[in-house]
Amino acid sequence: MSDKPNSPIYVTRPYLPPLEEFLPYLEQIWATRQLTNGGPFHEQFERALGEYLGVKYVSLFANGTLALLTALKALHITGEVITTPYSFVATAHSLLWNDITPVFVDIDRQTMGIAPEKIEAAITERTTAILPVHVYGYPCDVRKIRAIADRHNLRVIFDAAHAFGVRDEGGSLLRHGNLSVVSFHATKVFTTFEGGAIISPNAEIKRRIDNLKNFGFLNEISVTELGINGKMNEVQAAMGLAQLKHIDTAIEQRRAADQTYRRLLAGVRGVHCPMPPAGVRHHNYSYFPILIGRDYGISRDQLFTELRQHSIFARRYFYPLISNFRMYKAADDRKERFPVAADIASRVLCLPIFPGIDEATQTLIGELIARHGGRS
Ligand SMILES: *Cc1c(COP(=O)(O)O)cnc(C)c1O
Repeated sequence: MSDKPNSPIYVTRPYLPPLEEFLPYLEQIWATRQLTNGGPFHEQFERALGEYLGVKYVSLFANGTLALLTALKALHITGEVITTPYSFVATAHSLLWNDITPVFVDIDRQTMGIAPEKIEAAITERTTAILPVHVYGYPCDVRKIRAIADRHNLRVIFDAAHAFGVRDEGGSLLRHGNLSVVSFHATKVFTTFEGGAIISPNAEIKRRIDNLKNFGFLNEISVTELGINGKMNEVQAAMGLAQLKHIDTAIEQRRAADQTYRRLLAGVRGVHCPMPPAGVRHHNYSYFPILIGRDYGISRDQLFTELRQHSIFARRYFYPLISNFRMYKAADDRKERFPVAADIASRVLCLPIFPGIDEATQTLIGELIARHGGRS
């Protein structure tokens, strides 16, 4: 077997609709010259997305980070917010950028989201909200988080950037919390080049969010809020409409790739493949994380490097922890503040997964990993 694929394999590859399906949208944009500001595709996509996801109130954004920033503003979040160090840096950046102090709490070993039993000890009189992340599309313990929030009168905003299309027993995962935020960045399961959305529980909060994302304009001559430009443009919305027709196929192909990895890695000593928590009814297979154990032949970083030498670009999502970045290092930077998050961050490796990844590539990756594991 060749020990290198023909071209580099990155951790993900955007799933694009056939170009001939996208071109008619562009022709219409060229014909109408409506490029942005809530044009017809924006309106259609917002509606179609709500229907697909099974949620009522969707606000589209130019990207997920602007959506997070706006979600925090929309709920008047201030002071301190409890969040997770095990995420993409944008989660915590959205707080600091709003002059909110992030207070990090360790994660749960199963969900890899914030550990509910560790939240209450971090609540102070300045705490106004909790910002958990559905890492890899694995649902956080939404019920326990809700109960804590209710007890302390806190808002909950879910960073659901990874959770597009995930459903639990009650429907879309995005219905939980006071707001949920998704990302349509090119690396995500569903993409509009760049893009994002906020899912709201009612029309009133959606109106406020839509006002905030358009500079706070109430009408042509009055600005009532300190808004921002967060608007999704017509090309992005058209991409969303074109993609939506193929997303179920794309997720099905991801599911097949997930199964293939599980078969290839079964019984490899020192390699653990986490599973989505019980209660997930429809998963999106957005990532394929593995955890490297002490009984594996080489370190996680050695494996990461060795895969790169074979043109396999796995990623250490999420390493380092956000709390290790300069702007987040607390004055009392005690070691091992987040033992579970630190342990997982030191052992995790996300393998390439995307619709259409071929079996030969997955077999090669499986072989390269199994070399240092032996079979038990
Ligand atoms: C991708 C991502 C974001 C940011 O989304 P963008 O659309 O890239 O701005 C926020 N949080 C998490 C967990 C992400 O993975």
